[in-house]
Amino acid sequence: MPCLFCQIAEGKIPARMVQQDDEVIAFHDINPGAPTHVLVVPRRHIKSLTDLAAGDDALIGRMVRTARDLAREQGLAERGFRLVFNCGDDAGYSVHHIHLHLVGGRKLAWPPG
Ligand code: AMP
Ligand code: ZN
Repeated sequence: MPCLFCQIAEGKIPARMVQQDDEVIAFHDINPGAPTHVLVVPRRHIKSLTDLAAGDDALIGRMVRTARDLAREQGLAERGFRLVFNCGDDAGYSVHHIHLHLVGGRKLAWPPG
């Protein structure tokens, strides 16, 4: 099975894109859990957090900064937001191409469910 997020990055499957550059794309989650729910995804296929290498540090930093910029653009900087990497079954990791969730626009419970 081809990877869903690789296919979105290649434009083979449509998504509600909010941002694209040479390394990172961001699009609205198809099943949003909050008024703002955007996924920040590297174009390069990395399976999960457990596969990260030291050479990926800059890419992960870029993902985090992209998510922060999008949070600002969505008007969430003042009221707050959450960034989440899921990993593995207990976290419900379902698309095995690393991605960062940007969630906000409502009060978020802690600890998460
Ligand atoms: P995770 O549980 O961290 O693996 O999250 C995967 C996320 O991808 C879920 O929130 C899904 O709703 C979302 N998702 C799955 N398929 C698509 C798609 N085709 N377009 C946008 N988001 C998707
Ligand atoms: Zn992929």
